[in-house]
Amino acid sequence: MPPKPLARVTDPAQLDQATGPQAKLELRVPASWLVEGCALEVAVPKVLCCARCDGGGCDSCGRGGALRAPAELSQRTIQMNLPGEHTTAVQLRIAQPFDDSEIDQLLVHLHPGAPTTTGVRRVGTRMQLAPASLASWVQPALKIALVLLAILLLALALTR
Ligand SMILES: [Zn+2]
Repeated sequence: MPPKPLARVTDPAQLDQATGPQAKLELRVPASWLVEGCALEVAVPKVLCCARCDGGGCDSCGRGGALRAPAELSQRTIQMNLPGEHTTAVQLRIAQPFDDSEIDQLLVHLHPGAPTTTGVRRVGTRMQLAPASLASWVQPALKIALVLLAILLLALALTR
């Protein structure tokens, strides 16, 4: 099964307010990847550090300090898009990173350095994912434009 693309970007304000379990993941990647931007495939470890308490234990992680990713490797292998134009560390936030998991958000810290963290693979150039907000705006606008064009053509045909 191919890793599912992470196109489900939700409203950032909504993510800020989310109270569900958040896990964090520290990754080291070549500095050039952060500068150029690229698509990554990451085999996420089975056990992740709780981002809310940094492993110390809180209500969100049941005091354990850790959160579990799916046991199946294919279920916890995810793709992410590095935006590029970064010379220092980058943080990505992925909402609902796994299909079947208690983890609500995954905070991924990407630091420039070597060697690249095991399980991290560059799979291509930046994925051309339209931001959800843009796509949802463009589609209705396009439909309205087509309807207006149809009305205009009809009006022209009638006045002839
Ligand atoms: Zn915690």
